[in-house]
Amino acid sequence: MRTRVVVLGAGFGGLELTTILSDAFGADIDIVLIDKGDAFVFGFSKLDVMFGRLLPAQVRHPYRDVLKPGVRFLQSTVRSIDPAARRAVTDAGTFDADILVVALGADLDPSATPGLVEGGNEFYTVAGAFALRDILPRFERGPAIIGVTGKTFKCPPAPSETALLLHDYLTTRGRRADTEIAVVMPFGTPIPPSPDTSQAILAAFAERGIKFVKDSLVQSLDPRRKVAVLNDGAEMPYALFLGVPVHRVPQVVVESGLAAGPYGWVPVNKKTLETTFPGVYAVGDVNGVGTPKAGVFAEGSARVVAAAIIAQLRGGPAPEPYKGTGSCYVEFGHNQVGRVDVDFLSGPKPTGTFQPPSAALVAEKAQFGASRLQRWFAPSSQTKSG
Ligand SMILES: Cc1cc2nc3c(=O)[nH]c(=O)nc-3n(C[C@H](O)[C@H](O)[C@H](O)COP(=O)(O)OP(=O)(O)OC[C@H]3O[C@@H](n4cnc5c(N)ncnc54)[C@H](O)[C@@H]3O)c2cc1C
Repeated sequence: MRTRVVVLGAGFGGLELTTILSDAFGADIDIVLIDKGDAFVFGFSKLDVMFGRLLPAQVRHPYRDVLKPGVRFLQSTVRSIDPAARRAVTDAGTFDADILVVALGADLDPSATPGLVEGGNEFYTVAGAFALRDILPRFERGPAIIGVTGKTFKCPPAPSETALLLHDYLTTRGRRADTEIAVVMPFGTPIPPSPDTSQAILAAFAERGIKFVKDSLVQSLDPRRKVAVLNDGAEMPYALFLGVPVHRVPQVVVESGLAAGPYGWVPVNKKTLETTFPGVYAVGDVNGVGTPKAGVFAEGSARVVAAAIIAQLRGGPAPEPYKGTGSCYVEFGHNQVGRVDVDFLSGPKPTGTFQPPSAALVAEKAQFGASRLQRWFAPSSQTKSG
């Protein structure tokens, strides 16, 4: 009997895990990879599309191209999860697993911020970011706000990157002198674990006249008066609002009992990513391990779970514990990319090291994306020969 691994969610975490297991076991393992979508999109590609650097079709990577031995991709919505029975019910049937991996990411809830859907835009969903490609060319004058609406959000550098890219975009269009840009963030600095990165971003903001509103959240928008209301009651007028919507645990995960509520990310063993249910793991944004919600961390946690599954099936020693380290690329505008290497779990508090923007890092970021596509989507040698 082949071991049955059911992976819920084909994002950064699910794709990485599936690839490693397929490489290790080939057709000797039975993996079902389930996602409601038909294609993967990198988070950073949303910025590329929104600012007109790439077309939507160039950043969608269809799951039908996942051709790996031992892996079946199923496009379907997960409706319920029974972690005690290691069972998932989808629109396409019920799946029982020996090992169940929940990699469903974070849900985005624009409607949780009054006025955002009616009077603003958000750039965190694929639909929201792609729609902005047609909205941004119409922005001519007035204040633009990049506003975070909840304390926990994916890719903490993204709002700062968006401000810097918006500056370039408006400069190219000759509209910068008639516009203002402000970033509203719930942190005291753009990247709290790395003072050097934060300083570099704040210097770039100062050079370009971008305002940083620290320790604040946008609580609501008043579309009639065109003002954003912050959590301390202060009001900021806007002509363009680019929001980071409220993030929540997917409802199906809350209903499964794996999470205590919509903002209680799935508790896991920090070293192994196993949930309180044996044989059930939570990787990536859906878990509450304490690392930022980012692809590199989803990938890192998937590698630890893959190593644990390989050790379990082959009877080898337990793998190295999860380290909670990762590198995030930061778009600085002017076609420059920096990098911050962060470590969230090994010391008493998170730390980060800054690599200043360079041409080498532009190439490294491109290689980061290309290597994932190659690994996750290109047929493995076993498939080619088989
Ligand atoms: C603008 C922006 C820029 C970013 N830039 C970066 C960056 O530069 N570097 C970086 O590391 N990270 C970046 N990120 C963050 C990164 O995209 C996420 O943190 C990462 O994708 C999380 O991986 P995951 O596997 O946990 O979840 P996801 O990649 O979100 O995958 C979860 C999957 O589960 C599926 N799913 C959810 N519910 C169901 C259901 N009920 N049934 C079936 N399928 C379901 C979804 O369709 C999705 O495909 C960025 C994000 C944004 C928004």
